[in-house]
Amino acid sequence: MNIKLAVIKGDGIGPEIVTGALKVLDKIGEVYSHTFSYDFVDAGGISIDKYGIPLTDEALKTCLDSDSVLLGAVGGPKWDTLPGNIRPERALLALRKELGLFANIRPAKLYSEFKNASPLKKEITDKGIDMVIVRELTGGIYFGERGRRDGGPNGQVAYDTEMYSVMEVERIAHVAFKMAMNRSKKVANVDKANVLESSRLWREVIHRVAKEYPEVTVVDVLVDNMAMQLVKNPRQFDVIIANNMFGDIISDEAAQIVGSIGLMPSSSLGESGRGMYEPIHGSAPDIAGKDIANPIATILSLAMMLRDSFGLIKEAEAIEKAVDIVLKKGHRTRDILDNDTEPVGCKKMAELICNEIK
Ligand code: NAD
Repeated sequence: MNIKLAVIKGDGIGPEIVTGALKVLDKIGEVYSHTFSYDFVDAGGISIDKYGIPLTDEALKTCLDSDSVLLGAVGGPKWDTLPGNIRPERALLALRKELGLFANIRPAKLYSEFKNASPLKKEITDKGIDMVIVRELTGGIYFGERGRRDGGPNGQVAYDTEMYSVMEVERIAHVAFKMAMNRSKKVANVDKANVLESSRLWREVIHRVAKEYPEVTVVDVLVDNMAMQLVKNPRQFDVIIANNMFGDIISDEAAQIVGSIGLMPSSSLGESGRGMYEPIHGSAPDIAGKDIANPIATILSLAMMLRDSFGLIKEAEAIEKAVDIVLKKGHRTRDILDNDTEPVGCKKMAELICNEIK
């Protein structure tokens, strides 16, 4: 296959982790006879420094013309005091909107080597954790009407609106059900249908779409119960679907219970096969430029890309297997160091993973 990627290294550790990840992708290309070409795009803080805005029209066009986008991370203290409309994060919102990326997928997997990294009790983590959260990304309360008005004697009133259309719920539901078909055929639907009308519509649509996937079992879990069940017995879940705000909150909870932030990939998908793939962590300015960042989350994001955007299953598994082998051999970057070995740097970790792709 010939695959053209838009690559956003971004800020902080972004350039280091992305450079490492691309070495792994080049190795996949070599071993499996694919050609990957890269259009490097400035976005975030670096774009503000160069062009005064977080994402130029040209950068956006390059992403729109690509088969998929790989992103390191954006942001950092240097740009923290800028007004909201020219902050680095605006680049991400613009990219999600313009690329129509309505589904955010975050696998939460506890590697057996890292059971101690989870804050949960050993009895809970012993058998491992492997679930994936499908979060609606472009609707709901984060995008609904908001404002303030005079509340009379009670003082000012502020409001945000949670609103979902049938179409918005249907399309994210299909993403979750299709994913469940390739996993254990179980979907947990998160909502607050005992209180919210928007959740009642959400639930109705989820169950209507479920009829198209008769092999998949759906359970409804109220969001407050989900927050509790995730720490009590996360193994009961496989695919979890949630709206934008509930998904935002529970995906961070899930990330925490499976340990290191440096290991967690994510993807954002739309109607077309094109997606944006990125680690869940930020630009880690505290360790930028020191060659100590963990590139694994970015490397695993590439595995998600190969599988979800290009159907390259063998290649995706080759990356995941290589990461597994390197971790089983005991190699660690500093953030996940749990043995007596010397930690390896970002470059070295990427090289070790490349060497396991055969
Ligand atoms: P962060 O994820 O960057 O860092 C949190 C902690 O985890 C830090 O101690 C950091 O050193 C460590 N860490 C993160 N990734 C690591 C890795 N790959 N290897 C080793 N250690 C790692 O979160 P933060 O400090 O809250 O945010 C820093 C900046 O990143 C902010 O400007 C924030 O807005 C931005 N941010 C960007 C994204 C994105 O681009 N998608 C996401 C989150 C935060």
